[in-house]
Amino acid sequence: NRRIVLASRPVGAPVEENFRLESVPVPTPGEGEVLLRTVYLSLDPYMRGRMSDAPSYADPVAVDEVMVGATVCRVEVSRHPDFSEGEWVLAYSGWQDYALSDGTGLSRLGKHPENPSHALGIMGMPGFTAYMGLLDIGQPKSGETLVVAAATGPVGGTVGQIGKLKGCRVVGIAGGPEKCRHATEGLGFHACLDHKAPDFAEQLRKACPDGIDVYYENVGGKVFDAVLPLLNTRARVPVCGLISQYNATRLPDGPDRLSLLMRTILTKRLTVRGFIIFDDYGHRYDEFAREMSQWLSLGKIQYREQLVDDLERAPEAFMGMLQGRNFGKLVVRV
Ligand code: NDP
Repeated sequence: NRRIVLASRPVGAPVEENFRLESVPVPTPGEGEVLLRTVYLSLDPYMRGRMSDAPSYADPVAVDEVMVGATVCRVEVSRHPDFSEGEWVLAYSGWQDYALSDGTGLSRLGKHPENPSHALGIMGMPGFTAYMGLLDIGQPKSGETLVVAAATGPVGGTVGQIGKLKGCRVVGIAGGPEKCRHATEGLGFHACLDHKAPDFAEQLRKACPDGIDVYYENVGGKVFDAVLPLLNTRARVPVCGLISQYNATRLPDGPDRLSLLMRTILTKRLTVRGFIIFDDYGHRYDEFAREMSQWLSLGKIQYREQLVDDLERAPEAFMGMLQGRNFGKLVVRV
């Protein structure tokens, strides 16, 4: 039973030494418990926050404890009346081969799910995040301009495609020409810009001749700086993530733009609202699942996954994601 624990807390970007691979005996389920065999492990940006002990909306992983994460598992042994051997479940058992559960928090996926790993992506947390943040906070309307970065990831890619279904003109932002091509040709965005281009801010201005009505915030940093002057009166900004800052150890160098931001919020009457998906919208998951499965079966939403083989490669894949090296929803085939 391999497991990856947090060996030490990162300062800045995580490095290999922050993780440790251990081998421990496979646990034996007691009465009322199941033994889960991890098949897929989801890697997500929020895990960077759990590696630090700065105050946040969720507790950090303790040093020497198993890294947390959503998993899709098969029930290997069941001593629980509600679960049978061989069935698939969505769990939160973290970066390890095996885990025990008393059933709390498990969602059943059936005996023969068609795409079990989708429970970690398009049908799970990232898809749900895209859906609620865009529709509830972003309130996109036909003919409006929607801008979203991390445009080929599970959140951004889904945001843009839902925006299109609502009749928006969708401008994506992604790292590099290959991702940008996928956003326009694969996902049908109207345009996609490379945030690494030296004239990125100018390109964004040209791509949004009518300004920006909805900016779905995934990254912060210089992308937000380029977006801010383009926001229209009564624009909505769902604040979903700020990945460009997750490794930051201090505030960015000046000038201090807080007063510019506040003045823009006031004069443009912006709605800027953060959200944490399950805390704020957990009660609306069924609504999302119904609509998303319909869109998927009608081919209206495309979904790209990047599978990485082997638990032992999880740290490297995770560190890569924070640098934009993933292309699609990052999932480890344990
Ligand atoms: P992604 O798979 O899209 O991975 C992250 C991507 O962010 C990278 O591939 C990279 O894409 C981009 N990125 C990384 N660093 C930078 C940077 N400095 N500037 C611009 N882009 C950068 O992740 P998800 O789709 O899972 O998550 C997207 C966002 O949503 C994250 O911020 C995450 O924290 C947030 N989130 C929030 C939730 C909530 O409840 N509020 C729930 C789930 C996710 P590229 O190469 O294209 O730049």
